[in-house]
Order: sequence, then structure tokens, then C-alpha cells
Amino acid sequence: MLRFAPSPTGDMHIGNLRVAIFNYIVSKQRNEDLLVRIEDTDKERNIEGKDKEILEILALFGIEYSQVIYQSQNLHFHSAMALQLLHNKKAFSCFCSSEWLEKKREEAKANKIAYRYDDACASLPAELVIDNMNPFTIRIKKPENTIVIKDHIKGEISFEPNEVDSFIIMRQDKTPTYNFACAVDDMLGDISLIIRGEDHMSNTPKQDLIRTSLGYDKKIEYAHLPIILNDDGKKMSKRDDASSVKWLLEEGFLPSAIANYLILIGNKPPCEIFSMQEAIKWFNLDNISKSPARFDMDKLRFINREHLKNLDAKELSRYVGFADEEIGELARIYLEESGTTKELRTKIAPIFAPKVIPEEFQEQAEIMSQTIKNAPYFDEYEDFKNYIMNESGLKGKNFFKPLRLLLTGAEHGPDVAEIYKYLKNYIGGIVK
Ligand code: GLU
Repeated sequence: MLRFAPSPTGDMHIGNLRVAIFNYIVSKQRNEDLLVRIEDTDKERNIEGKDKEILEILALFGIEYSQVIYQSQNLHFHSAMALQLLHNKKAFSCFCSSEWLEKKREEAKANKIAYRYDDACASLPAELVIDNMNPFTIRIKKPENTIVIKDHIKGEISFEPNEVDSFIIMRQDKTPTYNFACAVDDMLGDISLIIRGEDHMSNTPKQDLIRTSLGYDKKIEYAHLPIILNDDGKKMSKRDDASSVKWLLEEGFLPSAIANYLILIGNKPPCEIFSMQEAIKWFNLDNISKSPARFDMDKLRFINREHLKNLDAKELSRYVGFADEEIGELARIYLEESGTTKELRTKIAPIFAPKVIPEEFQEQAEIMSQTIKNAPYFDEYEDFKNYIMNESGLKGKNFFKPLRLLLTGAEHGPDVAEIYKYLKNYIGGIVK
């Protein structure tokens, strides 16, 4: 079983989508199920409705999963497992106050050493624990040996016991910490491989320790994906619009193109343009680069254009608000100068909108539009052009400029002769 474990705390980030896509691809390759676990235990950071939004995005990208679970449904398991650890002396109650811990942290900082819990409560005599009415947290005992993690991308990584520390697994209010809930749920879900962002790397030995202390000896495989950098070489954050999947979709990038791009970066694919289903055939987690990938908008636009070109005319026309093959063919011509469906719409919409004619061509446009309205239907552009030219008496720039403006609503653009084929059946609606 694989899992995708998003937190419903904000817009879905492309890094998270990349994680979801990789999990989906590998689950298909291994013929294992994929579960979605909404990590909703941090009540303060949860945002109403974000879980639904995440599931909608997964559906839009064609990421199938076998079940959705909410981490908060597992709270009783988390408490039970914490008690089991206490009982087996793998964890202990810690009565240190937050003020005291803060003081110790400050001291470490002043001495320029990394703060580690000093295990003050690790071996308190039983009588001090049993009747103690003070609030307490539960800490897991730090590991005795080096923890070695095998990662498909990063290789083998070792963590010394001191780096892991005796850390808190249950807070004073008896809610589980993130690491504890996550480690227990991965165990309960019988997860075989965890693919997630490398920002979770430091959590990995802690989660491993939790499961080992619970007596779970199945070794989970890992793949920690490098972060995605923005143009300035910094981690793509909320401040970068393109980091939000919703924003990219609203800008007119196709899900298939976004997925293609996210599979392509930092990878060694056999070709540049592909679908997720094709990627399932050759994708190899071990080929993913260790170093961060840089987000390149121009590349994404190029890929989007290629995916738009691959749509059939009817599908393409739907993206510009029609359901008509001819408009699809027309849009295909405009694809040469657009990279997104939003840009395509800004080219196609003026064709059917009331025309705004610059002052210098208003007179000619008036004559021409009357002529066009009275003209019979012409199948060929040459015949249409000759007829309008003869009837209106307009020539050269005074003919071609107003013609383009009346037919396309723009001063520049593709050859009118080329687009006439797709516009000829709509002339009545275009020149009003
Ligand atoms: N909920 C975590 C996040 O959204 C992911 C945890 C994990 O994959 O282990 O970053």
C-alpha cells in the first residue's frame, strides 16, 4: 500500500501534486493500492473545505486511489499505542514545564549548541510518576543505535541517537504530535513505500523509531523528493503564484501538461511529451535527481502547447467556450501564439465580440461591414475577397486592415486567408 498524506491547510502546492503523481504512478507499477490520508489533526491550521479541494484536484489529474481516511479518525489508536509504549518502558511521562524547556533551549542557543532534551524525566522513580497530578507530555525514549534509512533518491542515510532525541509523542492535552500520528498511521495502513517531500527527511528517523519501539519490524522504503525552486533559486513558496495548482489551472494549463511537466523535471524520461499513463510504463523512481528542480514557466508553456495541439478539434474548442470542430481548428491556428487556454480565449473571444475599430479605419470598416452583410456565401477566401474588394471599392491597407479588424477583432494575427476557412460559416455572427 502506498499513501498520499496531504494536510488540509492551504492551496495544493505543485510539490504536493508531484508527490501525489509519483505515488500514483508507482502504485500502478507495483500493482498496490494507494490510500489518501487527510492529515487533519492540527485543528488550528486546518482550513474548511481544503480536503474536498484536494480530492477534486486528484480527480482532475486522474489520480485514482482506493480509499480516503482522515487522520483524526485514528486518534484512539494513537492514544492506545502511546499507552503501549509507556507500558513497555519505551516511552516516559515528562513533567518538565514549557517554561523550563524554553529556558534550556535558550541556554543551548547561548552556548551555540543544538538543543537536545536532557532526559531529565526519562528514569523518574515510579512513585514520582504514579501520583503526580501535574500536566505531562509523553516522550519516546531516544534510540540506542544508529538509524539507517534507505531512500530511493537520497541513498542510504544514517542518523545518530542524539540527532533523534527523546521527543514528544503526546502533548499535554493528550493529542498526538505529527510524527507520532503519521508513524502509527503508516504502520496501520501497512505502507510499503513512502514517497514525500524532502522537507520531511528529518522526521523520518523519528517515525522509524516510533514503529520500531512499537515492535513493528517491517522496514518501510522511502523516496524523498527534492524541493522545487523558483526563478531566484529559492524554494517555491506561497508567494510564487505558480506554486499553487489552482492558480496554474485557472491560468489555463491542462492537468495533463502540468503532470507531464512535474514528471519531467529532475528526471531522465525517454521523451519530453507524454501522458501519465505512458509514464507508468517507463517511470523509475531511482532516476529522480537528488538536487532540487527549478521551475521553468517557459518550459511548462511549451509542454502545455504540445498537449493542446494533441487535443482533437472538438475538445480544443471546448476550452475556448465552444463545442464546435471549426472553432477548434481556428483555435489550433492561434495556438502558435498562445501557451494556455486562457490566452487562447483572449484571442478567440474578440472574433465574436462587438468590434472596436480605431478612428482611422472607421469609415472604411463601416463600408466594408455593409458590403460583407450583403455578400452571398463564398466557400473560397479568394472569391470572398474579390467580391468585397469590388463591391466596396477599398484597396490595399484600406481594405486589409478593416477586413482583419472586422473578422478577428485584432490588428495583428494569423493570415486571414488561413482562418477564413473556419470563419466562413459564422460571418453573420462575426460582422454584425
Ligand atoms: N501531511 C504532510 C504534508 O502535507 C505530509 C506527510 C507525509 O507525507 O508523511 O506535508
